[in-house]
Amino acid sequence: MVHFVGAGPGAPDLITLRGKTLLEQADVIIYAGSLVNPELLRWKKEGCQVYNSASMTLEEVLSVVKSAEEKQCEVVRLHTGDPSLYGAIREQMDQLDALRIPYDVTPGVSSFSGAAAALKAEYTLPGVSQTVIITRAEGRTPVPAGEQLSSLAAHQSTMVLFLSAGLLEQVEQELMKGGYAPDTPAAIVYKASWPEEQVLRCTVGTLAETARSAGIHQTALITIGDFLGSEYERSRLYDPAFAHGCREARA
Ligand code: SAH
Repeated sequence: MVHFVGAGPGAPDLITLRGKTLLEQADVIIYAGSLVNPELLRWKKEGCQVYNSASMTLEEVLSVVKSAEEKQCEVVRLHTGDPSLYGAIREQMDQLDALRIPYDVTPGVSSFSGAAAALKAEYTLPGVSQTVIITRAEGRTPVPAGEQLSSLAAHQSTMVLFLSAGLLEQVEQELMKGGYAPDTPAAIVYKASWPEEQVLRCTVGTLAETARSAGIHQTALITIGDFLGSEYERSRLYDPAFAHGCREARA
């Protein structure tokens, strides 16, 4: 059986308990070595075979999985963050379905959660934004029509950009074209939860320059919006005047 496991954003103790147990039991681990912290391999059992998928094709990954399955081995396919975001798991699951190889999925802490923790921020501030747009800039991988940054910018909601740290000149232009003021708060979070984590606060208009002077062009998330500012409303949930299922309103 194959277990797709989210490794979390980097720090080994941010994997889930379930993910760690699956790693401990695996006969074969295929990990996405470009982003998964190899420290997580400390939990592998003796004799476990380890493959780094960074240099492998989908076909090569499937061939390792097929021969493991023939030997009734347990396989962990370890993906960075949460596998449902930019994880390329759908194509693997479809192939496993075709081969009638069973699998399950264990979620992980995505780097966008890791970045909020590094920023000590809340993406959904009352009166500021109740929406988080997770997207990426168009680079070598195209983005469908209607999802250009400039059109998403029209919402002025919180935005989190994956896979875009090397494209920040273009990102700045598109965000401003779409309506973000150049002084809208922004932040670059490099390697959230890794020992080398860096948090750089800037504005939409200074994203490219900030990344350039810090030498950051990958493994970073770009967060944008007034959630990084100082103005917001109190939550209704904890407002004494607001009654809800668990609490009466207090005079
Ligand atoms: N499934 C992963 C994302 C994989 S795409 C997740 O849920 O986090 C790879 C991109 O994720 C990187 O280009 C970078 O933008 C982001 N990323 C992954 N780990 C990160 C980290 N620890 N800190 C900041 N960004 C990270």
